[in-house]
Amino acid sequence: MAEPAATGGVATHCPYCALQCGMTLRSRADGGVEVAPRDFPTNRGGLCQKGWTAAELLDHPGRLTTPLVRDSKGGPLRPAGWDEALARIVDGIGALRAARGPDSVAVFGGGGLTNEKAYALGKFARAVLGTRYIDYNGRFCMSSAAAAGIRAFGVDRGLPFPLADLAEADVLLLAGANPAETMPPLVRYLTSQRERGGQLIVVDPRSTPTARHASLHLAAMPGTDLALANALLHVAIVEGLVDRGYVDARTTGFDRVARVATGYWPERVERLTGVSAADLRTAARALAGARRAVIVTARGAEQHSKGTDTVSAWINLALALGLPGRPGSGFGCLTGQGNGQGGREHGQKADQLPGYRRIDDPRARAHVAAVWGVDPADLPAAGVSAVELLDRLGTPHGPGALLVFGANPVVSAPRARRVERRLAALDLLVVADFVRSETAELADVVLPTAQWAEEDGTMTNLEGRVLRRRAVRRPPPGVRTDLAILADLAARLAPGSPAAGSVPAGGGALAGGAPGRAEAPGPVTVPGTPAEAFAELRRASAGGPADYAGIDWERIDASDGVFWPCPRPDHPGTPRLFTERFATPDGRARFVPVEHRPPAEPPDEAYPFLLTTGRVLAQYQSGAQTRRVAALNRAAPGAFVEVHPDPAALLSIVDGDPVRVVTRRGVIEVPARVVDTIRPDTLFVPFHWPGAARANSATTDALDPTSGMPEFKACGARLERAA
Ligand code: SF4
Repeated sequence: MAEPAATGGVATHCPYCALQCGMTLRSRADGGVEVAPRDFPTNRGGLCQKGWTAAELLDHPGRLTTPLVRDSKGGPLRPAGWDEALARIVDGIGALRAARGPDSVAVFGGGGLTNEKAYALGKFARAVLGTRYIDYNGRFCMSSAAAAGIRAFGVDRGLPFPLADLAEADVLLLAGANPAETMPPLVRYLTSQRERGGQLIVVDPRSTPTARHASLHLAAMPGTDLALANALLHVAIVEGLVDRGYVDARTTGFDRVARVATGYWPERVERLTGVSAADLRTAARALAGARRAVIVTARGAEQHSKGTDTVSAWINLALALGLPGRPGSGFGCLTGQGNGQGGREHGQKADQLPGYRRIDDPRARAHVAAVWGVDPADLPAAGVSAVELLDRLGTPHGPGALLVFGANPVVSAPRARRVERRLAALDLLVVADFVRSETAELADVVLPTAQWAEEDGTMTNLEGRVLRRRAVRRPPPGVRTDLAILADLAARLAPGSPAAGSVPAGGGALAGGAPGRAEAPGPVTVPGTPAEAFAELRRASAGGPADYAGIDWERIDASDGVFWPCPRPDHPGTPRLFTERFATPDGRARFVPVEHRPPAEPPDEAYPFLLTTGRVLAQYQSGAQTRRVAALNRAAPGAFVEVHPDPAALLSIVDGDPVRVVTRRGVIEVPARVVDTIRPDTLFVPFHWPGAARANSATTDALDPTSGMPEFKACGARLERAA
């Protein structure tokens, strides 16, 4: 069904998660905006509470409508005009670049930015500022799955098949995924699957609302998914359930993985995971015996210091069973943020250029440099992952300025108190947002931005489906779009412009170049409108893994979005990847041998629990938006810690008691929620709140060495009654 013309409304998509539910917006007589669900393949007419209330922020009394500047560190933010605010940024950046080169400035983006904004931000950082320091908050949620997908399949698209395939699977295994709370309309697919007689297997340390739908719940200890997946592979091999024809024809590297799997016999893995050997065998046999089977991971499996290897273990199992590329079967992951998929394809990531190209690939650099009109040699090298970037801020050899678009790292980043200290040490912190988020409260300059319903653009959902986001009204006076801000800053800062000073992109002391090089290329512009940005993005992505060259707004309007890759206007798009070959040089998927290892900080005598963090239905990400929506705040007013009744009794804690969750980095003060739906060795705290309840003030910043993913899901903790 085509996206309906806006009969009495504007057809668009929810501003929050990657399901990108279809909705219709209508302007009311009182100036407000009304939301109605729309029949779209991902949501089939459903919306969750966040979607229903999404328009409330448009007229929120706390919304920013004028820039704010701080005259001195520690002083208050005061209203300012746009010229003053932008001049302050240009002067601050100019002084830093002149003294210390382009890498003295860093950029931090977000997985909620449209494709056009993600593209413009990457271009602004690399071609205008010339800094290698750009990364985004998607590093905190998608990077492990992305890295594992690329090393196995040669490309990363969250779900390489349409979401509807989930309903067709005879057996569906969800590892660390809780869509009943994070993406409620998706549950329709799980219900359809069950009504068809399908089995749902859920791997999760908690009996979540999703796990309660399951025919088999494997309540593995946090951080042991890798061992569990290897055990299922062990069973498949021992019992002769491997699809040898598929393995021989379509993959490489099985023998090495099979050798590793020999060490993961179910009785040993039972001791590691807490899941019975019988259940491990049942799960393996169910998956291997299914005509159509799908394995899907999400943050529970991925947010670990071995997140990439854990996803690889699940991919190994899927490949051994011959699932990827087979209709109705496959492996995928559930992307979380609204544009978590598109946001990682167009250049916000430290190691990537638009079209999901690698920044260290000379051909990719040449292609993108030609589109941007710059010398490939002037494009900076790969930067560092988000946590590493944040950790370098304000240090003698790190960036002295940070520009934040669409992110709130003070709440969402791990080891958040240290992030606060780093931000406070900066010469210049700029935050573009539409509310005074916790990060904006620390800024030297805050720029008020338009919201989702006030500007056009495209998003790419969890299936790789490129969608249209449409404006229903103009931004309020005093507010600008992110694109307009970037275009204006680029005009003031671009190499060759008078305000840019004499430091060229790609050079400078911190980049290893020569500060103050006399010659500079001509001014580089950043597209200031969504149409211009999308047209340029199509050219920049052409020929890359995520090829958007054949997609235009009219095609998206004429169908339910277009799946990438879509290299030509006459190309139908690609709803299902890997049917014939994988995106590797030889067309075969790659098995990757992976071994279990404990979390970076396992429980011990002093910190006997495993602390794991996560989400609740009525809040989204750092909560900067949803905590300001009255209905959502009533539904989920604050953080809590889930604890099993047995340890609670030992500690004389009853439901509702104020308690302290203590780790080596900090303390979370929250009420206890005593529930029998969690393992006795595990504590769960949602991460959406700031202040004393800020979960990420206590999490470890141990990183996955491949992806840079922080370990949000497992660290040693103890529980105390509050004084
Ligand atoms: Fe919005 Fe996600 Fe809820 Fe759908 S499931 S309404 S996209 S938050």
